[in-house]
Amino acid sequence: MKVMKFGGSSLADAERYLRVRDIVLHTHTEKGAAVVLSAPKGVTNALSLLVEQAVAGDPWQELFEKLNMTLTGIVKDLANELDNFDHQPLLTLIDEKLLELKQSLEGIHLLHCSPDAVTAKLLSIGEYVSVNIFSGIISAMGVSNQIIDPVEYVLAEGDYLDSIADVAASRARFTNVPKNGEQMLIMPGFVAANEKGEKVTLGRNGSDYSAAILAACIDAQCCEIWTDVDGVYNADPNQVDGAVLLDKLTYQEAMELSYFGAKVLHPKTIGPIAQYHIPCLIRNTLNPSAPGTLISTEASDTWTSVKGISHLSDITMFNVAGPGMKGMVGMASRVFEVISNANISISLITQSSSEYSISFCVHAKDAQRAKHLLEEAFVLELANQLLEPIEMRESVAIVTLVGDGMRKAKGLAARFFSSLAQARVNIVAIAQGSSERSISAVIESRKAREAVKVVHQNFFSNLHTIDAFLVGCGTVGSELLEQIARQQQQLLGRNINLQVYGIANSKGMLLQPGGIDLKNGWRDQLAQRQQPFSLAVMENFVQDNSLINPVIIDCTTSTAIADQYLDMMEAGFHVVTPNKKANTAGMDFYAALREKAQSTRRQFLYETTVGAGLPVIENLQKLLYAGDELTRFEGILSGSLSYIFGKLEEGLSLSEATKIAREKGYTEPDPRDDLSGMDVARKLLIMARESGLKLELKDIEIESILPDDFDDSGSVEEFLSRLPQLDQLYKQQLEQNPGKVLRYVGSIEEGHCKVGIQAVDNSHPLYVVKDGENALAIHSHYYQPIPFVIRGYGAGAAVTAAGVFADVLRTMPWKQE
Ligand code: ADP
Ligand code: ASP
Ligand code: MG
Repeated sequence: MKVMKFGGSSLADAERYLRVRDIVLHTHTEKGAAVVLSAPKGVTNALSLLVEQAVAGDPWQELFEKLNMTLTGIVKDLANELDNFDHQPLLTLIDEKLLELKQSLEGIHLLHCSPDAVTAKLLSIGEYVSVNIFSGIISAMGVSNQIIDPVEYVLAEGDYLDSIADVAASRARFTNVPKNGEQMLIMPGFVAANEKGEKVTLGRNGSDYSAAILAACIDAQCCEIWTDVDGVYNADPNQVDGAVLLDKLTYQEAMELSYFGAKVLHPKTIGPIAQYHIPCLIRNTLNPSAPGTLISTEASDTWTSVKGISHLSDITMFNVAGPGMKGMVGMASRVFEVISNANISISLITQSSSEYSISFCVHAKDAQRAKHLLEEAFVLELANQLLEPIEMRESVAIVTLVGDGMRKAKGLAARFFSSLAQARVNIVAIAQGSSERSISAVIESRKAREAVKVVHQNFFSNLHTIDAFLVGCGTVGSELLEQIARQQQQLLGRNINLQVYGIANSKGMLLQPGGIDLKNGWRDQLAQRQQPFSLAVMENFVQDNSLINPVIIDCTTSTAIADQYLDMMEAGFHVVTPNKKANTAGMDFYAALREKAQSTRRQFLYETTVGAGLPVIENLQKLLYAGDELTRFEGILSGSLSYIFGKLEEGLSLSEATKIAREKGYTEPDPRDDLSGMDVARKLLIMARESGLKLELKDIEIESILPDDFDDSGSVEEFLSRLPQLDQLYKQQLEQNPGKVLRYVGSIEEGHCKVGIQAVDNSHPLYVVKDGENALAIHSHYYQPIPFVIRGYGAGAAVTAAGVFADVLRTMPWKQE
């Protein structure tokens, strides 16, 4: 015979019961089926909540009515669907069960407590109703069937609400049950009886375990667990995109995965099936043709080392420490005896090698009780300061990596921990099973999903993610979005998933959980948003959506945004920017940015602040890392001024050239930033600081293109209308320097930085640099007498955006092969 277990997720409504009927009948005609059923979806949760409400003295009638509707609804719907379905006795049964429930809840309400024996009876109501409904369906098909009441057959011991079956004793009770497959057996899951014959439950989600017990008791040829996913995946498929379905798992691997949180299988399930060598298949009720995952002694050929990752949340960690722990024989065993005598299960233990402390984890619901019991048991040691006050750390989770092959593979633990570091997860404790089949880390609960995603990505997928947020969508920002939109598909082909989740400007901020469609309508959506950029809101968004590699791209020229870079990195974002404000603020801030990037392991990238898309900063840094030193620098650092001065020698006036440069998007939003020399001064300061000079902006000698007596006040338009007043001046300058051209040059010499106009003849290397070109000559110890020269187009949004794009791609997390 085959045991077939269907969970609540497979029994949500009448339609699902009929699906289950079809699957079961198919097997039953071939092999004979023994069916184990859970309560319909949500019913046990409702029963549990009703008990809680009654204990707390809260009104429970509304939920009670809802439960009544759910159960009777299923029966009535089936009655409409099926011929020969005898629904009246089922409605009577539901009435009786709910009357019993109601009376109990009234009692509980009065007493403000529910003894576990009573709770166990109430929690199992759903399973009894479920098997009776199913038996009715099967009988309507004319198939002979028998309900097996586990109270008579399955003997268990321990807690009323979390019992362990005595399989050997239970087997003996099954001798009189027909096992020839002629009669379909139908058993409620989750329930058993203790030695006194009282009803107990096997723990929440325990119907899987019931199936395993039944399989062992009737020597089933296979135990099938039917649920709502195609089998066991290497991570919860409902939480991790790209989780991979496993074809096979060994019993031990399945045990470890489920023990550490893979809800698809209750951890106690493996015991009986492994002991009696019964293969177990996990299959999908919603997709019965899928082959499922086989759990047996066979190892998988496809997945050889790490099999999966799971996490347990709602965990509390205890730390018992003090001088009394050291060398005092039996201290550890006393601690664990206290906990186990209270029937509290411990999910992880670590001990410091000095034996000075022991840490262990329990489920949060047991934490207060455990603390109280420990304090009681160690009252003397605590009073005499042999033990420090018992430390309890709440809201932690255990993330575990599982796989048989981990014994042989090297470096897996390192990869596991560096993945957690990448997710900026603080590790509270670690433990490795002595079987070397699992490694666990205790971490803050709120980071658990992110941690699982990053570990999954580093072990099982070659997809890198970049989760981008753009602030400022002017010329460069908009161009960047267009470039990203054009490239997204190609990048995906190269295993890079670059999504823009947020776009903000000074008026509004658009955030979209699935990523923003950059080709359609984002501008209109953004225009409707009233709340401007807020780092706190973005941070919450990242947390809520478990994004693992968030990057803020600052395409503004705003000082207010630049001032927040430290907070951005602290909040877990990389920062990529063409905005020069942060790097040209005070030296203290400049140093703080770099320290913060290091301490938070975030990237702060600003290649485009000098030379637009040209690789200036990166090359300069590489030289200096290799021990080189800048001796002299000279260059044209402004694409807009390169363009404007080039146009002067072609006969255009200063104002005409500026107007065209502005129209082409070469100048800063306010062209005074260029013409005042301030923009070039900022770039030169960044170059100087990169080279190790500790200078401030005021230390740069700036010769403005706008003479002192020129009125540069007012709006941009007012300023531009006055600019023709300077046309004559620059015309004269050219006439006074025959054979020469004017260039706006930045230089660093002996620690002194200067930006200003130079008249150069055709023997000078900068003579030919115009039309928006940038040229940088780096003289250094290694590069002499011929300097290291970087030259190329340095104006306009396209090259700058492409440079920003390249920086964004550099934030991709480091990954081991
Ligand atoms: P049932 O009601 O059938 O007992 P459960 O909800 O108890 O179903 O278990 C199925 C769920 O287990 C899936 O929907 C999935 O979200 C979750 N799950 C957690 N970890 C895994 C995993 N590694 N593989 C498959 N499912 C998993
Ligand atoms: N119905 C029970 C529960 O929800 C048992 C199970 O579904 O496995 O916990
Ligand atoms: Mg389940």
